[in-house]
Amino acid sequence: MSDDSPLLSPEEHVLSTLNQDGSRRWVRPRIVHGKWWKRRAVVAWALILLFNILPWVQIAGKPLLRLDVVAREFTFFTVTFRPTETLLLTLLLLTVFFGIFLMTALFGRVWCGWGCPQTVYLEYLFRPLEKWIAGPNLAKGKPVPIERRVMSIVLCGLVCLHLAHTFLAYFVGPQEVLQWSLSSPSEHPAGFAIVMGVTALMMFDFLYFREQMCILACPYGRLQSVLLDRKSLIVGYDEKRGEPRGKLSKKGAAEGAAPQGDCIDCGWCSAVCPTGIDIRNGLQMECIHCTECIDACDAVMDKVGKPRGLIRYSSQDGLEGGKMGFLRPRTLLYPLVLVVIISLFAWQLTGLESATLLPRRVQGQPYTKLEDGRIQTTVAFSLENRSEETRTYQIASDDERFELRAPTFPMKVGPGESRDFVVVVLAPLEVYDRGKAEVPFRFTDGVDFDHPMPRNVPGPYSVSR
Ligand code: SF4
Ligand code: SF4
Repeated sequence: MSDDSPLLSPEEHVLSTLNQDGSRRWVRPRIVHGKWWKRRAVVAWALILLFNILPWVQIAGKPLLRLDVVAREFTFFTVTFRPTETLLLTLLLLTVFFGIFLMTALFGRVWCGWGCPQTVYLEYLFRPLEKWIAGPNLAKGKPVPIERRVMSIVLCGLVCLHLAHTFLAYFVGPQEVLQWSLSSPSEHPAGFAIVMGVTALMMFDFLYFREQMCILACPYGRLQSVLLDRKSLIVGYDEKRGEPRGKLSKKGAAEGAAPQGDCIDCGWCSAVCPTGIDIRNGLQMECIHCTECIDACDAVMDKVGKPRGLIRYSSQDGLEGGKMGFLRPRTLLYPLVLVVIISLFAWQLTGLESATLLPRRVQGQPYTKLEDGRIQTTVAFSLENRSEETRTYQIASDDERFELRAPTFPMKVGPGESRDFVVVVLAPLEVYDRGKAEVPFRFTDGVDFDHPMPRNVPGPYSVSR
């Protein structure tokens, strides 16, 4: 670029998907159906199937996975967590984080290349669909007829619409989504707007944004530099074997010719790369370890009669002739921390009460003085049955100075259900000390026919005058 050019020219390579003038360089990766592509296809379709059936799976009437935003509940493998269970939720999140740290330290970006929905859907659903409709022109970089482009957008849009419904089922349950789908949008405008919004976002991502999601938006990709070390598994180019690279020529075999590495500089590894990089430039943040370049290079090596594996799964140390080595401080520390967190989590889980009781704010007058001199106070609670069966709760006070009036008791509550109720407390003035009295409430589910053993729900609760 000349000095008087109005364009700023970066001194170094900035992004694989940027042209020199800052415009987007569209990546149209070629596909080589090698052994790694086939293995990933099996995993990808298993995951697509799993993603679609998971919202429907229920065990003992509980979903396997559900993030119920309206009820503020998160169900994970049939265990339901509420926002009040902060310790359990924190431990669950820490388990996920340390699990990711360990997986990345050992196997590099295996999640990005094999399991991430972005990669799975883009490489095994949307790109093949687009290629099938657009025909060979797309791969050759030639203009695709407008009717084919429209057809491709419509078909991909329909797939996104289905995926948006499935996605929503993780939040509200599949029955609701099905019911919404079969009724008029005017009956559930919020649900309809969410589905349309998610569909539009998915279309934007899978039809336009694509690899930019991995390169620019995904925080996990950005964390790679600290999560990987020199012994982590990566997809890498064997520079010692491949360099100096050079085109295949008869001269290469001739006596006295300059020594040449195994890389014939054919560019296939770049042509198949979904993020548009050249793996021969070393480990790069854009590399999602998808193995496409392994298949491409292996196919080239087969053709030129050289051993496979010029690009292969290895580690930075392994590629430089060192040992792979799974044992190192971080791969020992992460499992140790995980064992501690999971043990704490399991311990907390087994200690969960069969019911939770939360006090609620009462509106209106805090207390009333009755004609007989007693003080009448109203307290409110929310009781949740956390067990798997219907239970009938009773309320009483062990201190006979307190008279409780609770018309909703005995109160039957279904499994996983919550009920709000109020209790009117009548007590003589003497029990109050500076406007406060401790009322020893005792909640039991002992009157339930199937569960004769009384279970106390924690108390006592303070009643302010
Ligand atoms: S595919 Fe293999 S031989 Fe071809 S340029 Fe890439 S590394 Fe070199
Ligand atoms: S460099 Fe290879 S492994 Fe990395 S993203 Fe590109 S094709 Fe996939």
